[in-house]
Amino acid sequence: MTEKTIFKRIIDREIPAEIVYEDAQCLAFKDLNPQASVHILIIPLKEIPSIDHIEKEDELVVGHLFYVARQLAKKNGLTNGYRAVINCGEEGGQTVDHLHVHSIGGRNLSWPPG
Ligand code: 5GP
Repeated sequence: MTEKTIFKRIIDREIPAEIVYEDAQCLAFKDLNPQASVHILIIPLKEIPSIDHIEKEDELVVGHLFYVARQLAKKNGLTNGYRAVINCGEEGGQTVDHLHVHSIGGRNLSWPPG
């Protein structure tokens, strides 16, 4: 049996997180190591390890993550923009193998990322 990811443990309420939104498909909580004044992670309840594991049947839930990112940006007053990104794999900077959208805002974000 493979070990649960840290995010699955947050879904299962085995470890605490500052949860800001949840519904039947996803959970959103504050990043432990925020990169801006607003840094929220939006994750599917379904255990999809990465973008590379998205199946046809997951299209709607992945779109839903971005819809929730939009709603939370509005709630957090990010009227001047923000970034919603997904890192994929080692070279993409992914460190937790449970799909997650980073929603980051509250300062000027540089591009390209490092
Ligand atoms: P990745 O590098 O996989 O794209 O992003 C993983 C994110 O999860 C990082 O920004 C990291 O700060 C955050 N993170 C890692 N462990 C925890 C945790 O236990 N709780 C919360 N809230 N965030 C975490």
